[in-house]
Amino acid sequence: MRILLVEDDTLLGNGVSTGLSQAGFAVDWATDGDDAETALSATSYDAVVLDLGLPKTDGLTVLKRLRTSKDPTPVLILTARDSIEDRVAGLDAGSDDYLVKPFELAELQARLRALLRRPKGMIDPTLRHGRVTLNPADRAVSLDDNPVDLSEREYATLYELMLNTGRVLSKAQLEDKLYGWGEEIGSNTIEVYVHHLRRKLYPELIRTVRGVGYVMTKVGP
Ligand code: CA
Repeated sequence: MRILLVEDDTLLGNGVSTGLSQAGFAVDWATDGDDAETALSATSYDAVVLDLGLPKTDGLTVLKRLRTSKDPTPVLILTARDSIEDRVAGLDAGSDDYLVKPFELAELQARLRALLRRPKGMIDPTLRHGRVTLNPADRAVSLDDNPVDLSEREYATLYELMLNTGRVLSKAQLEDKLYGWGEEIGSNTIEVYVHHLRRKLYPELIRTVRGVGYVMTKVGP
């Protein structure tokens, strides 16, 4: 899951960026509206966390332009306490949710998870495939009801494949979802994560489509 965070406050931006990364999100952090628009035009994000008071282009303008261009990326706006007008303007301009500063990181994470499953029409957040169950709320994975310990990236790889069951994901698509700006990607890291997942879960879970990518086929074993 790749998130664009747009926040000019360094302290808050640092905290949110670090917290979301630790929760398994790949985070790109833009500190003004112009950078945000550049990022949005170049990368497909799963969600945007958008502060409204920003240098250069303000957040509301960024949001309006995004929606004018028919971009449906879920947007959660961050607003100051007491500014009901901001919240209303944000929702009217096409934001999907809002949080009032100061907020708890746990609440931001929970709201993001809710936003991320909305476009897929998922009511039950738990993902199931064959013998594997994945619960995004506590990032718990189990095989035949036995908990399985996965690294952050292994979990993120599994999550993307399970969300897209039946769709082949290329290595580049998976890398896009797993890594933010400036994060170094080894040449065979995705292969390594898939290898670990097959070993920790079971080999037939993830199918390699030679020259294309990886897929979880719809029929579980
Ligand atoms: Ca601000």
